Amino acid sequence: MRAVPAGCDDGGMAAYESDGVVLRTIRYGEADAVLSVYTRERGRVSAIAKGARKPTSKLGGRLQPGVLVHLMLHEGRGDMATVRGASVVRTHAGLWVEGYRLRAAGCVLETALRGLPEHEPSEPTFNLLVRTLDLLSEAPPRETPPRVDPLVLGFAVKLLVVGGLLPRLGECATCGAGPPLVGFSAHAGGALCPSCARAGEPLEPGAREAFAALVGRPLSEAAQACPPHAALGVERLVGLVLREHLGVTLKSATPV
Ligand SMILES: [Zn+2]
Repeated sequence: MRAVPAGCDDGGMAAYESDGVVLRTIRYGEADAVLSVYTRERGRVSAIAKGARKPTSKLGGRLQPGVLVHLMLHEGRGDMATVRGASVVRTHAGLWVEGYRLRAAGCVLETALRGLPEHEPSEPTFNLLVRTLDLLSEAPPRETPPRVDPLVLGFAVKLLVVGGLLPRLGECATCGAGPPLVGFSAHAGGALCPSCARAGEPLEPGAREAFAALVGRPLSEAAQACPPHAALGVERLVGLVLREHLGVTLKSATPV
């Protein structure tokens, strides 16, 4: 807990404004909602929106998952801020008219919620999240499950880059040998050559190439970077890295 300086008139409380993407809303009490928001100014924060679930509340409709809002927040002594006001910057309305997009967006928001630490702002992460939702709200529905949509995977891979968790993929992570690389170990730090592969798991064909292409190409080209046959393999690599470094297993990554 943060120390409150003695003699401080406002008891250490502070108001601030920030753009933020709503990651999750949870019903709280009679009419309140508790939000998880990824803000530009403070990173991921929790905030309570009092009265947000009253039918007359203007706040409630604005504070839906996936919406980019401009928030006025008041930080108290506890962990949770209070929402004083909110205006919509972008609704990402396209997400709500197509079930596939909404489920894909749900995977992105879950990754952000579970993979990003609280109170650690990152401009590149904020921009990546907004850009992903912009693109997803216009994305075509695909045959493959939404959790392996190229934009969902592109977001996750670029998040690893921003977070400094990118595995080594061009050479063996253990001995430095070049291709062929046939295994993968998040613990060892990346792909493995045939001699070192026993320490890891098999590397699925096309996964390494697609992963590297998602790193190197803009998010708008994610579908070209990650062909459908490589998507499950990329998802698996992302999952292994998240589990190794953050101890996170995504609910949305449970095979269907
Ligand atoms: Zn090796």
